[in-house]
Amino acid sequence: MGLIVQKFGGTSVATTERIRNVGHRVLEEVNKGHQAVVVVSAMGKTTDQLVSLANDLSAYPSKREMDMLLATGEQVTISLLSIALQEMGHQAVSLTGWQAGIQTEKVFSNARITDIDASKIQSLLNENQIVIVAGFQGVSSDGEITTLGRGGSDTTAVALAAALGADRCDIYTDVTGVYTSDPRYVKDARKLDRISYEEMLELAHLGAGVLHPRAVEFAKNYQIPLEVRSSMERERGTIIEEEAQMENGLVVRGVAFEKNVTRMTLFGLDNSHATLSKVFRSLAENHINVDIIIQANTGEKKSSLSFTIHDEDVQNTLSVLEKYSNEIGFDKVESETGLAKVSIVGAGMISNPGVAARMFEVIEGIDAAIKMVSTSEIKVSAVIEQEKMLDAANALHAAFKLGEVAATSVN
Ligand code: ADP
Ligand code: ASP
Ligand code: MG
Repeated sequence: MGLIVQKFGGTSVATTERIRNVGHRVLEEVNKGHQAVVVVSAMGKTTDQLVSLANDLSAYPSKREMDMLLATGEQVTISLLSIALQEMGHQAVSLTGWQAGIQTEKVFSNARITDIDASKIQSLLNENQIVIVAGFQGVSSDGEITTLGRGGSDTTAVALAAALGADRCDIYTDVTGVYTSDPRYVKDARKLDRISYEEMLELAHLGAGVLHPRAVEFAKNYQIPLEVRSSMERERGTIIEEEAQMENGLVVRGVAFEKNVTRMTLFGLDNSHATLSKVFRSLAENHINVDIIIQANTGEKKSSLSFTIHDEDVQNTLSVLEKYSNEIGFDKVESETGLAKVSIVGAGMISNPGVAARMFEVIEGIDAAIKMVSTSEIKVSAVIEQEKMLDAANALHAAFKLGEVAATSVN
């Protein structure tokens, strides 16, 4: 007998019939003698619908009220699942994030979990209850309702698995596992049996929406094996673990992509030694996430600096830069929206110097201009125009032969 955390995403709970189906998947584990903690998302597209309701009223609704609003979505699902399980003759109880003891920092719309007091869940489990917890939400130390960022229910599940010392954490979704690329847009994408935490973390950060990046971070830090699998089909999913065995000769494991990227460029930047720290300190203090940064100081008095942000942060970034313009010292700022980032990921890249060159050849081969590049030991990313994003992803997937089981060499 063990303790299992199961998480079901929005599509898996989109209707009452699917909620009943989820109930059956939960009971499969319970009937084996396991204790079950179940984390659910809001039904179907509820979160998007709530966002658009708010946008009907305001272009910039306050983040506090948005969290208050969005947290209601998951609350609907927990109670419905609990009702379904009770109807099937089982003891079940639903808990909001705050009732479940999920503490977060006070950052609306993208809060990090700081602590979990799992005592209430534990005592309900001891009473043989199936415990159902609302994903994506928590409470700050001063009692404010917070949310964990879009897709954050995964993180609730893995964090609870860590706090409870669960034996397993299963993420049920609308695909049968983690694929070499998003199967919705890359036609030859292939399901992986296994992938390492490190590669999954990189893919998730680079836009593979199948898992919330912080969920993978928790899983890696607490060594919790994850399985991503389908809530509708029976086949085994993808295991995410410390050292996934490399498939033969595999250099690139997956292709990820992300749109809504903006490039900001500051021209005529003073080359005094503290300039960069001032720019990025002021952005960080305003919770603006910066991704790729490019600056070449060639020893002249002035230089330019480019960095990427998410489209939705453009206004905020411009006003922060304006506010600090005298302190930072630059001539003008330009932004280019409508860009996308396409990335290849694989632990095998470290020892294969030709991978980046091959990637650039493929992107140039579809006539896309590469605007920025960023590399690490296990990934290469290129910023290109958004219209070329899916062509680039499909071309890279084919060039690195990711659709084939025994994968590729570099040339
Ligand atoms: P859930 O609501 O269950 O959390 P999500 O929509 O957040 O589901 O995540 C599942 C989706 O992730 C899939 O439908 C798929 O389109 C997308 N996705 C993106 N990249 C990948 C990938 N590499 N492997 C599998 N799915 C991916
Ligand atoms: N309901 C939230 C969202 O749509 C959280 C989640 O599904 O993980 O982003
Ligand atoms: Mg998700």
